[in-house]
Amino acid sequence: MTQENRSRSRGYRDVVPSPTTPSEDYESEGQRLDASRRAIEDRVAMSAPMPMTNVAGVETAEAEDERCMGLALEEARRAEAGGEVPVGAVVVLDGRLIGRGHNRVIATADPTAHAEIVALREAAKTVGNYRLAGAELFATVEPCPMCCGAVLNARVARVVFGAADPKAGAARTLYRLLDDARLNHQVAVVAGVRSVECGALLSEFFQKKRS
Ligand SMILES: [Zn+2]
Repeated sequence: MTQENRSRSRGYRDVVPSPTTPSEDYESEGQRLDASRRAIEDRVAMSAPMPMTNVAGVETAEAEDERCMGLALEEARRAEAGGEVPVGAVVVLDGRLIGRGHNRVIATADPTAHAEIVALREAAKTVGNYRLAGAELFATVEPCPMCCGAVLNARVARVVFGAADPKAGAARTLYRLLDDARLNHQVAVVAGVRSVECGALLSEFFQKKRS
């Protein structure tokens, strides 16, 4: 998708009014500029009290991250329904969902079937390329070393995760594989998006298992 579409999905372009409208045709150039400047000021003032949306009603980047994490949480619940540790992930490119997956290591007898790997595989199939330049991965739990390796190989641009993982987290907690300057690719990382919900799924799952 083009850069313009990307901007539009974040909603930054839509606040700029068209420089001329039919009713302004008779005005002088200066009046027209004043009018469009006033229009911009009015719209900026309108957007100020609404931190979650801009004037066009388009989500801010932060709200968009939370929405995408909601999709990853749906996937995590699917893993739980299948008796697997509830971890979910989705891959988004230019605001479009291109891959989703949940942990399926037991069902597939496959130690690599982590949610992130499943989602990355589907995303690569969707775009017909193992390189997912510009893509964003949303995972309910901090990715492990294997999944960070896959993220780096896929050239993913950004990883957003929910709950930190003190036993395997390789994006922040135990290692910082995604922003290690010695490696040939670095990934922007955002931690802690909807972390309470993401972590609760896990702790409830393990509590039920113990009881
Ligand atoms: Zn993993």
